[in-house]
This record gives sequence, structure tokens and C-alpha cells, in this order.
Amino acid sequence: MSKHPAVQFLTAALARAEETAKPATPGPWGVRPPSDHGDGWEVCGRGPGHNGSRWVVGAESGGGVYDEADARHIALHDPGAVLRRVAADRQILAEHQPVKAVGYDGYGVAVIDTCILCGSQYAPYPCRTVLLLAQAWGWEASHAVSPQPEIE
Ligand SMILES: [Zn+2]
Repeated sequence: MSKHPAVQFLTAALARAEETAKPATPGPWGVRPPSDHGDGWEVCGRGPGHNGSRWVVGAESGGGVYDEADARHIALHDPGAVLRRVAADRQILAEHQPVKAVGYDGYGVAVIDTCILCGSQYAPYPCRTVLLLAQAWGWEASHAVSPQPEIE
């Protein structure tokens, strides 16, 4: 049985998020306000560097983040947070697997795929929970998009 496009999308999005989070500077990440000679807010994570810290977004070379809100947003989404979210979403997806059931396929009684946990004879798979998870990662039912497109 081939997977529904939303499930394929979600699976790919989780793999990509994990793939990019694993080699990144470990968290938790924090922020530091601009210094007198700094150019912007800095984001720091644990790693090789001064006192076990490593600048993720540093202002030393004219970098940094202009807005405090942006710096805090970046720090909130550190690799540890992403990996925890990926693990939880995979667990949710594993609990909401398709199962065959006698139900209504829109035309009449038929064998349909429905969610083993929350499905019904009128609710084809993927269930609302799986669709919402996919939407949270960027899925749009109206058109298939690749997860987290690169911005160049
Ligand atoms: Zn479900």
C-alpha cells in the first residue's frame, strides 16, 4: 500500500529536520544583547569555544541578529528542541497508522483505510491528527510541496 501524500510529506519533513538538527551546535541556545561594539543580538549554543559555549550567530565579524525577537526565535528552535519535536511527531504518527475497515467510501459500503486509533467508518486515512501534523510541517493539501524548501 502506498502512503498518502500527506504522510509521505510528513515523513520526509521529519527526516530532513532531523538530518539538519543532528550536526548543528547542541542546545540549549541562548541570546546575548548587543555590546557597545557589537553589531547585533547574538545566539549561543553549547559546543567547542569559550567556556563551552559557541556562537551560533555571532556579532564579532559584523554579524548578529538585528531584532531581539529574531534572536530569541532562533534560540527557541535549537537542535535539541527540533529533535524532541521530531521524536514526538514520529511517535504520534506511529500511533495513528492505517487499518482496513468496512466503511463508507463516498459512494457506498466498501473496505477503506482508516486510522487504527481515531478512525471511523466515515473517516478515511489519514486522520485529522496526521493531517494536522503534516500541516504543522508545511503540508498543504491543495498542492504537494517539498518540505522546508531552501531559501537562496
Ligand atoms: Zn488518528
